[in-house]
Amino acid sequence: MTQRFLPYGRQALDEQDVEAVAEVLRGDWLTTGPAVDAFETAFAAACGAEHAIACSNGTTALHLALAALNVGPGDVCIVPAVTFVATANAARYCGADVVFADVDPETGLMTPDTLEVALEIARLRGPVRAVLPVHLAGQCEDVARLAQLAATADAVLVEDACHAVGTRHAGDPVGSCRHSVSACFSFHPVKTIAAGEGGAVTTNDAVMAERLRRLRSHGIERDPARMQRQAGEPWWHEMVELGWNYRLSDIQAALALSQLKRLEYFTARRRELAARYDAVFEALAPKIQPLARTPDCEPCLHLYPVRIDFAGAGVSRTEVMEGLREVGIGSQVHYIPVPDQPYYLDLYGRQELPGAQHYYERTLSLPLFVGMADEDPLRVADALVAVLDGQGAGPRP
Ligand SMILES: *Cc1c(COP(=O)(O)O)cnc(C)c1O
Repeated sequence: MTQRFLPYGRQALDEQDVEAVAEVLRGDWLTTGPAVDAFETAFAAACGAEHAIACSNGTTALHLALAALNVGPGDVCIVPAVTFVATANAARYCGADVVFADVDPETGLMTPDTLEVALEIARLRGPVRAVLPVHLAGQCEDVARLAQLAATADAVLVEDACHAVGTRHAGDPVGSCRHSVSACFSFHPVKTIAAGEGGAVTTNDAVMAERLRRLRSHGIERDPARMQRQAGEPWWHEMVELGWNYRLSDIQAALALSQLKRLEYFTARRRELAARYDAVFEALAPKIQPLARTPDCEPCLHLYPVRIDFAGAGVSRTEVMEGLREVGIGSQVHYIPVPDQPYYLDLYGRQELPGAQHYYERTLSLPLFVGMADEDPLRVADALVAVLDGQGAGPRP
């Protein structure tokens, strides 16, 4: 019997989403227009932030956030070693250098301790402008403490919250920017809310919000009140700095807004599925361990990574992934430590980051998405145990 293939993640679209996009297509605006405005208002409210600036994807959100801080050549940004490459690349787009912080081997997160070490190294390289904590899998560390430490180097926090829509920390929604200058989000289909491609930056700073909007659209100013020349000519606009076209279209914004309306359900469903996995793995510990959890965090998990001592189990991660695939289960590894990527090796050489190495060697992301059935976590766990026990996960009699 073949079962439906379970990818490690996928979007959850319904007819309302389809209708929302179709409505934009029947209207007058395709590019940035009323749907983007509506999405920004709703997203800021969902995050508890004053402003949300929508943009083309999570990578451009990170680039805009650093550019709006005037991060430039000679500056240093601190990025955890375990993240998607885009977090570090954003600093490089600005010409800044990256110092990689090690991570907790059991959560994959940069911690106050690993940040302190990174700050010492970074201070020797140049002025530290931004620290970018990554809320890996949807969990976060003590952001207040990270912000305090960053402040000792006159640096600010820019959160890479691409995994963490729907997560709360110490009661605050991620994106509220209580301790950071901005938080960056992605609406790539594998993330919790899908826009096709899309991103957003949230902030409570009105000046920064204006700057982000201007940088998102070529650095062009259209508000007469802020122009240098009061021309009174209807076509007049001023390009006051070098920006980009990082806009979100109304087509994408309509989808994002429609998805956002179901964020509460998405969060509840992800929590429910994660709890089902947790319960199964609790019974199996210590062979397969769920991600270690951080205090004060109520995550909306974007991924469900488990920790497995593959070497101890005598089976390679490749064999496990292939064994799972044979029975229709997708899995993935998040992430190869960024400093080990050839581009960063060429730039900075090999670095000793034992926490990142330990985390990387043991992690495997199992399927987690809203459309999974209640019994899927058990099916995945059973298959994983079978593969680890060397029985193959083949169909049982
Ligand atoms: C997805 C992701 C990004 C980039 O988002 P895109 O929308 O794909 O550009 C950045 N950081 C992290 C941690 C991500 O997972």
